[in-house]
Amino acid sequence: MLPAEVMLQAQAEMLDWHNSGMSVMEMSHRGPEYSSIAQKAEAELRELLTISDDYAVLFLQGGASSQFAMIPMNLLRGKTKADYFNTGAWSEKAISEAQKYCDVNIVTDSTANHCTTIADKNTWQFSADAAYVHYTVNETIHGLEFDDIPDTGDIPLVADFSSTLLSRPIDVSRFGLIYAGAQKNIGPAGLCIVIVRRDLLGDTLAATPTMFNYKIQDDNGSMYNTPATYSWYLAGLVFDWIKQQGGLVAMAEINQRKQTKLYQAIDGSTLFQNPVDIRYRSWMNVPFTLVNDSLNTQFLADAKLAGLLSLKGHKALGGMRASIYNAMPEAGVDALIAFMSEFERKHG
Ligand SMILES: *Cc1c(COP(=O)(O)O)cnc(C)c1O
Repeated sequence: MLPAEVMLQAQAEMLDWHNSGMSVMEMSHRGPEYSSIAQKAEAELRELLTISDDYAVLFLQGGASSQFAMIPMNLLRGKTKADYFNTGAWSEKAISEAQKYCDVNIVTDSTANHCTTIADKNTWQFSADAAYVHYTVNETIHGLEFDDIPDTGDIPLVADFSSTLLSRPIDVSRFGLIYAGAQKNIGPAGLCIVIVRRDLLGDTLAATPTMFNYKIQDDNGSMYNTPATYSWYLAGLVFDWIKQQGGLVAMAEINQRKQTKLYQAIDGSTLFQNPVDIRYRSWMNVPFTLVNDSLNTQFLADAKLAGLLSLKGHKALGGMRASIYNAMPEAGVDALIAFMSEFERKHG
């Protein structure tokens, strides 16, 4: 979901942005109007996450999936090895892309437990000569989320925050690089946000495409070529909206309440199940299955009639998934819980 307030504002400004006589879609990305939009969005993101000037904030294209290649290209810096956590489908994609560029050491592997838990940190196997350590903070498909930031000492920590950035405050200074495709918890598709420590930049693999070079993107204010201007603008409106909600501390309180009550409803029922270790349950993506799989189609059809959309689970897992991102109001979660309990009364 996107906040309705944001879409209404975009609608009101659609044809004529701030009496400029232009739609944001029609502006030159180098003109003063668009520059002010872009800079304001960056300043607001820096404020929300308390990002210091030691970090570049980039607004790129190509989705989080392009980062799977850009990260090794930019961060190996003469080394030949990187450490990766494997906690689910998105980790696996990041790993197979990185393997084109370097040796990948797997720190821990959750696939043996079907990505329902993360092994104790005492069992994690880091390599001393890794250029960086990569992990997927929230596995969007499996609904498996780290409850803490892994401690990697002096080795830069790289984190795929695609489905959880801005759901709560984070200490950016713990990371070498944070990236997030915007379409999950930030704004519309077409934009990928990268927050990267500037001292790590500049030593890329020789064949790195210009567009994939973080240093060049930073030196050009993410405008080496034409950026995804409208998505960037809408992300800025979402940052405004988050500020108006009370910032990330307020978002965290609301998100905490939303996820707690949904998992409580699932755990308290005999019809619905979530297999993830309680400690590592995702705040944003709540997968659940029906004890009787043959009721799935009925569940989704009835849910749609009740105005509850997009509940079908990812094709890799089946079942259902409730993605309760920032813009999903608490009332939406309440409506889902009420619907589930009514469905259980009829079919349980
Ligand atoms: C969706 C997602 C991706 C891929 O994002 P794209 O922008 O579609 O490339 C990567 N990682 C995670 C955790 C995701 O949820």
